Amino acid sequence: MTGKTSKLYAIVHAKCAHCRRGNIFTGSMYGWNIQHTKEICSHCAQRIEIEPGYFYAAMYVSYAMNVIEMLFASFITYLICGPLEDNTFWNYLIVIFVGCFLLYPFNYRYSRIILLHVLSPNIKYKPYYDQ
Ligand SMILES: [Zn+2]
Repeated sequence: MTGKTSKLYAIVHAKCAHCRRGNIFTGSMYGWNIQHTKEICSHCAQRIEIEPGYFYAAMYVSYAMNVIEMLFASFITYLICGPLEDNTFWNYLIVIFVGCFLLYPFNYRYSRIILLHVLSPNIKYKPYYDQ
């Protein structure tokens, strides 16, 4: 395969921010082999965690994603069950908790991808690795 890999493709497919070829994670998002973040890209050999503790910042991204998802889950519950009242309280609580639980692997993965690809201006795409 030749030519440049687009940023969108790299984000959707969880590719390295330097080369857009190597995978950032081991394992799959949902599955029995739990996903881990690789230390070094297998394609371009750049460090993925550029400095120790770098991914702590991903917690804030993941927090923002959680807030958006909870608002969305509440809105869906509102459409199905009606306004938040005493008799719909548990519907809201269960939907939000199950939603957060199911989305945890998604948030883990995409908070780190957003941090690497969007929020880290000093991580540069290097087209000469992209081949
Ligand atoms: Zn790479």
